[in-house]
Amino acid sequence: MRPSYDETRPLADDADADPTRAAPEHMTPAEFRRWGHSMVDWVARYMENVASYPVLSSVEPNAMRAQLPAHAPARGEPLEAVLADLDRVVLPAVTHWQSPNFFAYFPANASGPAILGDLLSSGLGVQGMLWATSPACTELETHVLDWLVDMLALPSRFRSDGPGGGVIQDTASSATLCAVIAARERATGLRTNDVGVDRTLTAYASNQAHSSLEKAVKIAGIGRRQLRLIDVDDDFAMRPESLAAAIESDLAQGHLPFFVGATVGTTSSTAIDPVAVIARICRQHALWLHVDAALAGNAAVCPELRWIHDGLEHADSYCFNPHKWMLTNFDCDCFYVADRAALINALSILPEYLRNPATEVGAVIDYRDWQVPLGRRFRALKLWFVIRYYGVEGLRRHIRGHIALARELAAWIDADADFERCAAVPLNLVCFRHRGDDELNRKLLETLNASGSVYLTHTRLGERYVLRMAIGGTQTRREHVVAAWQRIRATAADLAR
Ligand SMILES: *Cc1c(COP(=O)(O)O)cnc(C)c1O
Repeated sequence: MRPSYDETRPLADDADADPTRAAPEHMTPAEFRRWGHSMVDWVARYMENVASYPVLSSVEPNAMRAQLPAHAPARGEPLEAVLADLDRVVLPAVTHWQSPNFFAYFPANASGPAILGDLLSSGLGVQGMLWATSPACTELETHVLDWLVDMLALPSRFRSDGPGGGVIQDTASSATLCAVIAARERATGLRTNDVGVDRTLTAYASNQAHSSLEKAVKIAGIGRRQLRLIDVDDDFAMRPESLAAAIESDLAQGHLPFFVGATVGTTSSTAIDPVAVIARICRQHALWLHVDAALAGNAAVCPELRWIHDGLEHADSYCFNPHKWMLTNFDCDCFYVADRAALINALSILPEYLRNPATEVGAVIDYRDWQVPLGRRFRALKLWFVIRYYGVEGLRRHIRGHIALARELAAWIDADADFERCAAVPLNLVCFRHRGDDELNRKLLETLNASGSVYLTHTRLGERYVLRMAIGGTQTRREHVVAAWQRIRATAADLAR
């Protein structure tokens, strides 16, 4: 065979002259050991000191980049120099998500066992696209996800020993995208995969659903205009009668409803959609029901909180994020389907170069067919470490501690004449505002965050500007919530004066 390109063209570097020197100088295992110890020390020191940093970085845009050289170094540098720049250049531009005073967005829990599990995953350097490319990567994942079905008392149809099963995705956004695509293919008899999207497909979610759903319908070719945002009740939960009406109206106009996204714990206010009633509507019209419980799902490790999942036994798919509130470093989303064939049919590919006996006889799970990318990290390791280190009891204490603090904060707000609560507190998020106008509340948030002592974010609920305080940090204790509330009151008193 004659190549169409010149295979004999000389290489530019010294590999030609001396093939024994073709590889760069790698870090030796001995050096790795030494540097590894010192970086574990660095991280341990960071854990000890993280409370003392300004939570929200105050650097100006591009100020950090201005301190970096424009071009990469031609020759390797000593790690001492890199570490010095880490402290000098990088750290001031870091927002400290692991600070106990971080109350913004939702938490992104890190923990010792998860960090170490992740380090081991890096050390193994496995790419687990197929069972055959590293059986442990697939089997530990399947096993831990089955454990979690028991731990959260999820419907048994999500277990891998029936027609369903679980998989680790990077994020809830990816889980939702996979759910939308599987639903699309189920509704169109796998036709969309062949000929492209039918313009009449319509999807439904409440107007409080996460933006990742809008992104998913855009990526899946459904189109944003085909996503119907259903109105909500006084608790910001989807009104099922409005959902039913929207579906009927679309059917009457010749549309093809195919997907409903329900949320357990909305991002704005942790509102909980009535999944059982929504599920009944979905069954009536044979629609795919996906339940997004990114933050809230973690709470179901506590038996007394499992009511949040009422009706889940009728969902086609479900996801929650251990990387939010189960002490497992980002990224880790657990995605479950009731019928794995529907997901695999929508996403499977089998090029010649991936053919192997285990796959051919159908004896194994190949998770590349359960997600968008082909390749995948060994994420189950960190989750396995976390579950074994803390045990179910430890994970329950983590959740209950934060919920107790959120309830206490809610009571302080209710008792304060200058403040009002803006939503129920089913879990660990408290939405509130000063009784002054939106402008004062905006200024309050800005002043608090600029102080560096706390970090909160905002939302809009019923047209009003609302502060959100999400209590869920790995290191967050009562003293941090007490101090934050004192500062909020004092700052508001200054501003209102
Ligand atoms: C945080 C959140 C998401 C998005 O999470 P990612 O894992 O970052 O994609 C989706 N849905 C809800 C309800 C969330 O709170």
